[in-house]
Amino acid sequence: MNENEIINKLASGEIKLHEIEKYVESVTQAVDIRRKFIETVSEGNLEHVSQYTLDMGEAMKKNIENPIGTIQIPVGVAGPLKMKGEYAKGDFYVPLATSEGALVASVNRGCSTIKESGGAIVRIIGDKMTRAPVIKTESVVEALKIKKWIEENFKDLKEAAESTTRHGKLLKIDPVIVVGRYVYPRFVYSTGDSMGMNMVTIATETALNLLNQKTGAHAVALSGNVCVDKKPAAINLIEGRGKSIVAEIVVPKNIVVKKLKTTPKAIEEVNISKNFVGSAISGSMGFNAQYANMIGALFLATGQDEAHIVEGSLGITTAEDKNGDLYFSVTLPDVPLATFGGGTRLETARECLEIMGVMGDGKVLKFAEIVAGIVLAGELSLLGALAAGHLARAHKDLGRG
Ligand code: NAP
Repeated sequence: MNENEIINKLASGEIKLHEIEKYVESVTQAVDIRRKFIETVSEGNLEHVSQYTLDMGEAMKKNIENPIGTIQIPVGVAGPLKMKGEYAKGDFYVPLATSEGALVASVNRGCSTIKESGGAIVRIIGDKMTRAPVIKTESVVEALKIKKWIEENFKDLKEAAESTTRHGKLLKIDPVIVVGRYVYPRFVYSTGDSMGMNMVTIATETALNLLNQKTGAHAVALSGNVCVDKKPAAINLIEGRGKSIVAEIVVPKNIVVKKLKTTPKAIEEVNISKNFVGSAISGSMGFNAQYANMIGALFLATGQDEAHIVEGSLGITTAEDKNGDLYFSVTLPDVPLATFGGGTRLETARECLEIMGVMGDGKVLKFAEIVAGIVLAGELSLLGALAAGHLARAHKDLGRG
């Protein structure tokens, strides 16, 4: 069949979008035909979507179905970001993919302030990935029996779960919540350098098979939304999920004045009135100014699961006038991250991870520290700008056409 015949059969429904590969010799041909078909049935001219260098055959194995090309997002760098982490030490350039003018410039100003102040101190305070199925029982009496069985048979459940993976370790099952006759056990794993959602889903399913064999209880859904995956949730803010990270800095008063054109006291006041009181009155879960901006840009550049930006947006910023200087911190309790697997396989993601020296095995904790460092830079710069009344001018100069 030639290209036009395939497009006609797609239009008539005789061939489905995902079947084109069967009728052509290469993945590239299939991608071209699928895109041309979309152009014929829409107003779209996909000239730019058609141009890419990714190996689409590789991408189709794990990352995309029905591809028609790629999109392009400009990627800039901020830095050097001076890090004094446990894993990330020294200066780093950080790739940020965004179409929001002024973001990279603002983060860059934060990096420069951090560097002049001696570097960001960063520590990882938690490292885990969770999966919490929902199990249906006959009654609350039965639900409590299942909860007890799970608590008493952790060792067997751990063995079953870990039989499916080399890197995944089941750390605990906690909490085990009962609602009516439903039971929600939260399986908590360490997942090595992968973000781990596929890994823990497979492991938890195997543990649930054991539960089913031994008790007859069955899961209604492998995720019962207590995980909590890809939604903002208080349990993640409190218990942590993915990497939980703190970054802090003391900025001497003269550097606050020189770099941020404001004072420690003014930044403290903006933080209290905006990030604490404003967030509290609006019932917000993010007591911060803009974590999602840095998390989003870095996630897109490095092939993280973009739906996890919502989790990375959670967290609390503190700012204090400390004997005339500025103590400033960001706490990110819920940042799912990977330097292996998922979207990190894609060529552009790999290149961006390599800029920071965090591609592949044994690198995810170093990457996590850099993520918190760049959030610190962006948050510091924005709060400084707000305090100095600079925000409107920066956007006018850099963001408007
Ligand atoms: P993955 O692409 O499935 O890769 C993880 C696998 O890589 C592990 O199972 C592991 O094998 C292997 N691996 C090799 N070296 C490793 C190392 N150094 N550290 C850790 N693992 C290593 O990725 P994933 O992180 O489990 O899942 C991410 C993907 O899941 C993303 O594409 C995301 O979009 C998707 N996702 C899935 C769900 C879901 O419910 N299924 C939900 C959200 C997102 P061993 O297991 O043998 O150790």
